[in-house]
Amino acid sequence: MPVFSHAENFNHEQIVYCRNDDVGLKAIIAIHDTTLGPALGGCRFYDYESEADAVRDVLRLSRGMTYKAACAGLNLGGGKAVIIGNPRTDKSEALMRAFGMFVDSLGGRYITAEDSGTSVADMDYISAETDHVCGLSAASGGSGDPSPVTAWGVFHGIRAACDEVFGSTSLRDKKVAVQGVGNVGRWLVKYLSEEGAKTFITDVDEQRIQSVASEFGSEVVDKDDIYDVDADVFAPCALGAIVNDDTIGRLKGPIIAGGANNQLDNMSRHGAMLRERNILYAPDYVINAGGLINVYAELNKSPREKALRDAEHIFQTLKSIFATARERNITTAVAANLVAEGRISSIGKLSSFQRAGSSVK
Ligand code: NAD
Repeated sequence: MPVFSHAENFNHEQIVYCRNDDVGLKAIIAIHDTTLGPALGGCRFYDYESEADAVRDVLRLSRGMTYKAACAGLNLGGGKAVIIGNPRTDKSEALMRAFGMFVDSLGGRYITAEDSGTSVADMDYISAETDHVCGLSAASGGSGDPSPVTAWGVFHGIRAACDEVFGSTSLRDKKVAVQGVGNVGRWLVKYLSEEGAKTFITDVDEQRIQSVASEFGSEVVDKDDIYDVDADVFAPCALGAIVNDDTIGRLKGPIIAGGANNQLDNMSRHGAMLRERNILYAPDYVINAGGLINVYAELNKSPREKALRDAEHIFQTLKSIFATARERNITTAVAANLVAEGRISSIGKLSSFQRAGSSVK
């Protein structure tokens, strides 16, 4: 399997293969870019069908983190780790601590965090071996559940999208269809309801639906009908790849803005289809950056209030992405990438300027 010429290898700085047979650890850490700061990204524990799949995933996801941090205005680079195995049967304290030792060996170039298959408790194990871990439990001095901050950023992103489409940030009487009322979706419904929006909700978990509907007066929709709701905003907060050939034609409203990762099944094809249909898409990695903003605050020992304030900047970031897309006749997804690359390039030049200056003594 080629590594340097791998299709997903976009000039990654460093790829580390980690192995400890005593505890059954097989992991890969990918550091994509550290121009803006240490590479931060979650550790995914997943039973990949092949090692090639694991390599592809870690390369793709680590690059995504570079763009996410850059757009969020954070002094962080992009990285990611994957542990190959079944988290239910293969995970142990020793394995997580062995992984923590590999993270530590990178001396802070990579900072790990929770992702699918790993938990806050796993981060606590890792922290026994390295300081380069975040997303610890509140009891261990961490920032706890990031979802309220993520949802707060999504809420402000929806305001930005409404401003672009309707010429007003007001959400009063706006109709929002929320797919998935788990950690992020539930908080989002709360913020939207407090602002006077009408929410339509769906989930596969009947208990969650009933609890959110009774608390916030949301209208319940069958999970297969959420795309057909006559809403101003479709807010995916459950799964990826839900914006695709089958669903785009069903959407009634002019805005897609939600917290889920990887919403477009195919970034270029479906980004273009949305643009053709005048549906404004708030790029997922921009609008859902609140979780990353939250762990960044944890790293800087800032309080939750600071993370919430910083997440509100997602409003302005999206406004400038929408403006760039409009002016240059490109999709919002492409415009977001340009904003990220522009910041990495300009800050990168700044640090080489500082280095050159500091060498003159
Ligand atoms: P969660 O598991 O708490 O919530 C997801 C909800 O979606 C669950 O209630 C689940 O039952 C529901 N669901 C699953 N399949 C569904 C379907 N077919 N139709 C409708 N509902 C369905 O997860 P979360 O933490 O709320 O995250 C939601 C999304 O946001 C994920 O894509 C996640 O990667 C992304 N995200 C989360 C955060 C965060 O801070 N939690 C940060 C960034 C991105």
